[in-house]
This record gives sequence, C-alpha cells and structure tokens, in this order.
Amino acid sequence: MRGVAILRGAIKKVLAGATKLWGLTYDSNPILMYHSVHPKHPLAVTPQAFREQIAFFREKFRVVSLREYLQAKRENRLLPGTGAVTFDDGYRDNYSFAYPILREYSCPATIFICSGFLEAPDYRAFSRQAGLYPHLPPLTWGEVEEMQPLIELGAHTHSHVQISALKGDVLRRELGTNIAIIAQRTGTKPTILAYPWGQDDDFIRPGCGIVAEYFQGAVTTNFAARNDSGKVSPYGLRRLPVGPGDDRDFFAAKTTGALDFIGSLRKIYRRRGDVGERNTISQL
Ligand SMILES: [Zn+2]
Repeated sequence: MRGVAILRGAIKKVLAGATKLWGLTYDSNPILMYHSVHPKHPLAVTPQAFREQIAFFREKFRVVSLREYLQAKRENRLLPGTGAVTFDDGYRDNYSFAYPILREYSCPATIFICSGFLEAPDYRAFSRQAGLYPHLPPLTWGEVEEMQPLIELGAHTHSHVQISALKGDVLRRELGTNIAIIAQRTGTKPTILAYPWGQDDDFIRPGCGIVAEYFQGAVTTNFAARNDSGKVSPYGLRRLPVGPGDDRDFFAAKTTGALDFIGSLRKIYRRRGDVGERNTISQL
C-alpha cells in the first residue's frame, strides 16, 4: 500500500507540474466534493489544508451556492469561473472543523444528508453497513440548523444505497423518506441529490426518471471541473473529489479542468473492473 501511495504522489506531482508549465487558467466551473474535514482521520482532509483550499478557491472562483449553480446550469448560463463546495454524508466534523472556516471566508456550501446516518441509534453499526467513513459520528440536527443559511442541505438517500440497484417503489421510499426527514427536522425540503457512490453504474438505470420527479438536479462522483457542456445533464453534474493526498499544486491543477482526462481514465478502469483501493488512477 505504501508503494502505491508513493506512486500516486509522484503521478500527482508530475501532473501538477505539467499543468503549471502549460499555464493555469481558472475558466472552469468546478464543484468540490468533500466528505470529512478532520485533523486525525486518515481519509479526511485536515482543517489546515481545507483552509488553504477554501482561501484559494474563493480567490480564483466566484463561489455560489449549489442551488444557484444548478439554476444557472438549467438555464444554460453557467459562466466560466463559477464554483461550488459540497460535502457528502453528514459527518459531525463538517460542523466542528469545516463550518468555522467556511464562515470565516463567507463561503457557501451544501451538505448532502444521509438521514439514516443522522437518525441511527448506533451510528457505528450504520456506517459499517452503509459503507460510510468508519468511526466518524454524524451531525446532530441542532448543528445542522445552526449552520443555515450559509450551508444548504441536499439529499443523499435515507440508507446510503446504490440507487441503480433499486426497483421503482423501493427507490421512491428511499428518496421520499430522506426528503421527508430533512424537511421535518429543518423545515426545508432538499431539491438536489448526491447519488451515493455516484459513478455511472450507480445511477443511470433506472434512477434518472424517478430522480427527476423529486429533484431539480443531482451530483455524481464523476471527476471533472467543467459542467457547462450541453452533454452534461443537470442530473449528472460532475465534481472534483478532494482527498488527504492533494497538495496545493495538485488541488490548483485539478480546479483548472486541465486534469479532466482523469475522469475518462477512471471510466476505462471501471469498465475493465479494476476499481477500488488497488487502482492508483481511481484515487486521483
Ligand atoms: Zn455518501
């Protein structure tokens, strides 16, 4: 595993260096995707790195709420240089470590809430079963409330399920329960979904039609910093995953869109079945 991490770090350095030589232009429209911001968890971005990233992102992009971003996308007026920030699942560290920084920089963001996680009597058991980051507690509804209105809420299903695996009625129950709980607890109905797992196989069939009954748009985990092409559906918005191994140069390079080819490489690897921790490309 250590060898893979070193290789991954080297690839990132080369890619960031090449992008710098080519010239960095911030005319893309990236949606950043975070999960956990935590000083100690191995899968999390540290608060220090997060602060640098948000400061940089604020400086280079016009950061808007995802709702505003989606509205522009739906009306074909998504401008170059527009960005948004998102978090998936609903970890408590989004409140403890990320929110103070977001507030300091007046940076709007969306947290996609997995309602079953926040409601679970035993969050550890829920996380294990649902494939969430281990050992991280969920937000409380009080914390969720305190973060509004800077932080918007999105939907992420009730049980963190791969929605392409669900038949109509079960999918409707998953989405309906998620929306109803968030609305009941906060008074606000989410209008945007983040597909759990979120790569092509996870949502294309049969989700899209049903998803459109409930939501105005949806975000995936497909890697890209651009969403302005007519080929990108408002229900298939791409994001940039930000991980613990992203140094300043690689983060900057990713946001320019110059590394969007990584998204295509990941798709090829997925098609070949080479997914998971072993695959260096899929981790970029
Ligand atoms: Zn998730």
